[in-house]
Amino acid sequence: MNISEWLLQVARVSPDAPAIRCGLDLHATYGQFAARSAGMATHLKDSLGIRKGDRVALFMQNCPAYLEILHAVLWMGAIVVPINYKLHPREAAWIIGDAKARVVVTQTGTVFASGTELAKTCNELGLQDPALTAAAQSSAEITPPADTGKDDVAWLFYTSGTTGRPKGVMTTHGNLVAMSLAYAMDVDSPTARDNSLYAAPMSHGAGLYHFPIIRAGGCHVIPQSGGFDPAEIAELAQALDNLVFFAAPTMIKRQIAHARATGYDGTGIKTIIYGGGPMYLADIEEGLAVFGARFVQIYGQGECPMTITVLPRDLVADTAHPNADARRGSVGFAQAGVQVRVVDSDMRPLPAGEVGEVVVSGDALMKGYWGNEKATADTVVDGWLRTGDLGSMDADGFLTLTDRSKDVIISGGTNIYPREVEETLLAHENVSEVSVIGVPSPEWGEDVVAFVVATGDGPCDAPQLDAWCKSRMASFKKPKTYHFVQDLPKNSYGKVLKTSLRERIAQELEGEHQA
Ligand code: AMP
Repeated sequence: MNISEWLLQVARVSPDAPAIRCGLDLHATYGQFAARSAGMATHLKDSLGIRKGDRVALFMQNCPAYLEILHAVLWMGAIVVPINYKLHPREAAWIIGDAKARVVVTQTGTVFASGTELAKTCNELGLQDPALTAAAQSSAEITPPADTGKDDVAWLFYTSGTTGRPKGVMTTHGNLVAMSLAYAMDVDSPTARDNSLYAAPMSHGAGLYHFPIIRAGGCHVIPQSGGFDPAEIAELAQALDNLVFFAAPTMIKRQIAHARATGYDGTGIKTIIYGGGPMYLADIEEGLAVFGARFVQIYGQGECPMTITVLPRDLVADTAHPNADARRGSVGFAQAGVQVRVVDSDMRPLPAGEVGEVVVSGDALMKGYWGNEKATADTVVDGWLRTGDLGSMDADGFLTLTDRSKDVIISGGTNIYPREVEETLLAHENVSEVSVIGVPSPEWGEDVVAFVVATGDGPCDAPQLDAWCKSRMASFKKPKTYHFVQDLPKNSYGKVLKTSLRERIAQELEGEHQA
C-alpha cells in the first residue's frame, strides 16, 4: 500500500476540511492538498522523468508546501530524501550524492551553485518553479497514488551523524504504516480536531508524525516563524485548540521557561510528545507542574522511527504508584508492534535490572542502510536492531536508558553512566545544562569531566557542585573537573555533541604537553 492513499481517502471523504495552515491562515483544504500533490506527482513523472524508486531530496525549512511536495514524491512511487534545512549546503550535497537523488527541491531554487558536482547529476527545483506551481494548480482529475508494496522504500532518512558520516536509513511504506498504527494505539488518539504543529524540522521525527494525523484528517499547522518560538506556540494553542506537537527536551525546557515568565498554563495544548534525547527528571517534573498531564514520551531511532518505547501520559503524570518516580525517569515500555529486549554482547537477553544493549524487532524496523550492506549486517542481527543504547528493563517492562554505549565512562574498571551524573548536577538549582564525558587518565583509565552551563541566578562553582555531588552519589562518580561554558555544542537537531567536547579536551591536553 502506498501511504499517500491515506491522503486521497481523507480528501474524498472531507474535501473541505482544513488540512494545512500557515499560522492561523488556511493554506489548503484536504481536497486542495491531494489535488496539488497529485498534480505535482504528474509533473515529476511526465516532465522531469522521475521514475518509481528514484530519489527526490527535500532541502528546505518547514513551510506549508512541504507536505504537498513530499506527498507528490510518494504519490508517484518515488523515494523522498528529507534533509535537515539547518545543514550546510555542502553537507546536504553529500547526502544528495550518496542517495543519488535525481532532483532536490529547495525554497528558492538557487541554494546550490551551478557548475558544482551536484549540478551535473541532480537538478535543483525551486518550490516557486512556474511549471511546478502550474502542475499543482492543474484541474485534471486526480490520478490515484502509484501502487507500492509494503517493502518499497518511501523515506530515505540520513542519521544525524553525531559520529562519522551519516547513513541513509531505508524506511518503507510498511514501516510508516506500522509507526502510524503504534502512534494511534500508544502515543495519542489522533482526531480530525487535532492541530498538529511542526515546531521541529519536518525532515525528522516531527515530520514523520504527520502520517497518522493525515489518516485522522487533522490539520497540519506550520508556524509562521518556520521553527520553534514558545510565544508563537502559546498563541497558536489558544487560538486553534487541540494543539499537538513533538518537541526535543531542550525545546520543552524553553517552552516551560516561557510559561513560567508569562503565566501561560498550557491552555489549548492537547499533547506534547517528547523524545529524541534524554529528558531529565527535574525538567519533566517542572513541565508537569506548569502544564499538567499533557506529556507523552517516546523513544525511537532513525532506524526504527519513533517506535521503540512509549511512556503514556497517565504514567508520565502518575505519582501514586510505588515506582512512579522510576517509571517517569524511564522511557516506558515497548510500543505496539515491536519487541524490545536488553541483551549482552552475544545478544543473549539479560535478567531484569541488568544493564545491556537495547535491541528491538518488529514492523517499524528499517529495511537497512542505503548502499551499505556491511553496516546493515552489523546493526541488524537475526531481525534485531542493535540500537547502540544502553539500558535496563525492570520486571514490569519499563526500560531505563543509561547512555549510548560509546559514551559510558570506565574509570578504575567501573562503569559510570554520564546520564546519572548529569541528572544529579541538573537537580542543582543554579545549573541550567550539563554534559558529562570521560577523558583519558593514566591513573584511572578515564576521568569524569563535566561541562556546565549555569543559570546565572546564583552561585555555581566547582567546590559547590563537588559538595552537591558528594552528598548525592558515590564519590568515584563525581566529576574530576568542571568546565563552565556559555552553551553546549549541539547538532542541528539539538543533540549535544559529546564528540566535540572530547575534541576540546584533547586539544587542551595537547596544548599543555606542548607548553
Ligand atoms: P536519531 O536516530 O537521530 O533519532 O537518534 C536516536 C537516539 O536518540 C537514540 O538511539 C537515543 O540514544 C536517543 N533518544 C531517542 N529518544 C530518546 C528518549 N526518549 N530518551 C533518551 N534518549 C533518546
